Amino acid sequence: MEATYQTKAIILSRQPFRENDCRVIVYSRDRGKIDLVARGTKKISSKLAGHLEPFNLSDLMVARGRQYDYIGAAISQNCYYNIKSDSEKTACAGQAANIFNKLIKPGERGERLFGLLLDFLETLNKNQLSVINYQLFYHFFALSMLVELGYRPELYKCVICGNKILPNGNQFDFLKGGLVCAICRKNNKNKQVLPISADCIKVLRLAVESDLNKLIKLKISDKLIKEINNIIGSFYNYNFI
Ligand SMILES: [Zn+2]
Repeated sequence: MEATYQTKAIILSRQPFRENDCRVIVYSRDRGKIDLVARGTKKISSKLAGHLEPFNLSDLMVARGRQYDYIGAAISQNCYYNIKSDSEKTACAGQAANIFNKLIKPGERGERLFGLLLDFLETLNKNQLSVINYQLFYHFFALSMLVELGYRPELYKCVICGNKILPNGNQFDFLKGGLVCAICRKNNKNKQVLPISADCIKVLRLAVESDLNKLIKLKISDKLIKEINNIIGSFYNYNFI
């Protein structure tokens, strides 16, 4: 195994570790999620610390150690200044980094996951939203992650009878992972369900098929945002909490 390696990575979290060091969890483009140690980064004078702030996209040089791998050098490619200077954006990015860190296992890798997280940060950095829209944007990210991890909800056919879903009278069944049609709904005994409107179905279909930078431009009423957040949040909770 090589003694050092270079990698491009997004910083997910940074925690104090030992007397002067930090433990840094990153998602790297070619090695997936890795747990690293940065020496001396608790000192204010540390040159490394600024390049290892959460949400930074940085080029890292990593030295292999017996117990831990150490960050030897780091250079930020993007600090996402607009996210860090806005508390609402910071909170939104924090939620996204949290679920990403929670759902992705160490070593789990994929260019598409890296690309998704990068898109999320780039799009959040560029766009100014209202509080409720930040929640929606976070939920779009969460749904995209679930799809990427193999939890794509069935949004076109009834998960019970297999018939095409018509616009009205449907429900989302979290146990079965998709929509139940207006007819099957009457006999569905499962309690892990929510009614779902025709507009919510349309947005969810777009959300599993479109990029985040397209989704952020959708104009959606506050009432519909609440419904979408509730459905995606419940779908996530059902599978992972
Ligand atoms: Zn049906």
